[in-house]
Amino acid sequence: MNPVRTARPDDPHHLARQYALNTLPERKHESFQTHLEQCQTDLSQLTETALTLALATQPIEPPPALRKRILAAARAERRS
Ligand SMILES: [Zn+2]
Repeated sequence: MNPVRTARPDDPHHLARQYALNTLPERKHESFQTHLEQCQTDLSQLTETALTLALATQPIEPPPALRKRILAAARAERRS
């Protein structure tokens, strides 16, 4: 019989998907980033999840009014 591996509350390995979806509370988000710098397993899982999300979405053409608003905001930002 295979041993059942259960994640301890302080084990960050189970947080990669929530991190990828940006649904972690700020404190856990920061501690997971620190963990990610040393964990090849989670880095691989995160890369795989990001690729899956990128391939699952269809690019859309933004409405012309949105482009105008963004360019106006950028010009206003440059002036200030
Ligand atoms: Zn990990």
